[in-house]
Amino acid sequence: MDGNFNENDISHIVDADKAHVWHHLIQHKQFETKDPRIIVEGKGMRVWDQNGKEFLDAVSGGVWTVNVGYGRESIADAVHAQLMKLCYFAQTAGSIPGSLYAEKLISKMPGMSRVYYTNSGSEANEKAFKMVRQIAHKRFGGKKHKILYRDRDYHGGTLATMSAGGQDERVMQYGPLAPGFVRVPHCMEYRAHEQDLDHLSSEEYGVASANLIEEVILREGADTIGALCLEPVTAGGGVITPPPGYWDRVQEICKKYDILLHIDEVVCGVGRTGTWFGYQQYGIKPDIVTMAKGVASGYAAIALCVTTEAVFDMFKDDPNDPLGFFRDISTFGGCTAGPAAALENMRIIEEENLLDNCTKMGERMMGNLQALMEKHEVIGDVRGKGLFLGVELVADRTSKEPVAEAQVAQVAAECGAQGVIIGMSNKSVPGRNNVLCFSPALIVTADDIDLITDSVDKALTKVFG
Ligand code: PMP
Repeated sequence: MDGNFNENDISHIVDADKAHVWHHLIQHKQFETKDPRIIVEGKGMRVWDQNGKEFLDAVSGGVWTVNVGYGRESIADAVHAQLMKLCYFAQTAGSIPGSLYAEKLISKMPGMSRVYYTNSGSEANEKAFKMVRQIAHKRFGGKKHKILYRDRDYHGGTLATMSAGGQDERVMQYGPLAPGFVRVPHCMEYRAHEQDLDHLSSEEYGVASANLIEEVILREGADTIGALCLEPVTAGGGVITPPPGYWDRVQEICKKYDILLHIDEVVCGVGRTGTWFGYQQYGIKPDIVTMAKGVASGYAAIALCVTTEAVFDMFKDDPNDPLGFFRDISTFGGCTAGPAAALENMRIIEEENLLDNCTKMGERMMGNLQALMEKHEVIGDVRGKGLFLGVELVADRTSKEPVAEAQVAQVAAECGAQGVIIGMSNKSVPGRNNVLCFSPALIVTADDIDLITDSVDKALTKVFG
């Protein structure tokens, strides 16, 4: 830390936080007996809290965001220069970084064509839902308007994205939800026994799970379904990777029933899995892609809804429908700091070969975690892609009964005490946090990977023996 921080400042800042800040995803009662953690500074892979304690951040800012690490001067410089030139103009007009970033991004997304600027992952997903709804009105008299989403997937905290929320505990006290969203089953091979599908091979399970989506389509009526919205690798729902065969069959089904495929890349997007996008790991050809967190690594708030030219074309000039363009605006989609930061973020990933580093370090981390499985009976499954990994903890490997959530929190707290911040996913099993999550920045070194997994090893020993 830079030392410009004295104890009076600290107690003032902590008091102000306790008096006035409403933290995200936190039960505030705990702050009656302890102080909230305030992160004061970050550099590379490390952050410091209000007490000067150093942490190795294994979750890129808590929620899979700071992909190029903290303290990047070149991003700060690019944002500063852009703000001094032009801070903002509504996206009704273009901007220099808006044009340049769109061009650069599309060069990494063959088959995609148009970039719609907005500010958060939820909002990007809402834009996509609105596009699907409007297409239903334009082409199908409003009938083909339903959006399918998957059990355990998460698409945001707004009303419509909650209505497409596959994690019940994050939705259940906020109803009534928006109509026109229909849930389909997940594809989680580790828990195939819960669907009586554990007798199948991986590939058979992949195809069978995709077929469960088709069953829902047939039940609802294909002529009522406009889009299927899925995460390529499910993040908060338990770090769930698809088995072989799944995505091919999903795409066949979408084609067969003229259903748009909307891929939510809010977590996987921009390098996290070792390719620019998670969907590129599985040969997916989406119609709509949404992204947010890693786009500018948190240096500016920016999110995008990217479409094919075919989707865009549906909103173009139609003499029979003069109001048929996309009648939507996002005020802060016009902030130029976002694309300026995103452009530099992408340049850094290219120049420093961070996609390769992600793949290599991801393999190392996967190897380390798999090795821990031999030592710790409590690890039921290790899964992930690139630097996006999860460890599912179970009380019994045969029944796969999850461990108590409090024990998982204890493991995370124990890692924290050792100076490593790890995450817990919202659920793999309904209502239970039993997956430890890891998503270090793409700059992570082998030494840091080993530090993270050593810390998990010690924490598991301490909590489970
Ligand atoms: N989609 C996914 C897959 C996410 O993980 C998240 C956020 N965790 C969102 C959408 C929502 O993004 P935001 O919080 O920026 O609205």
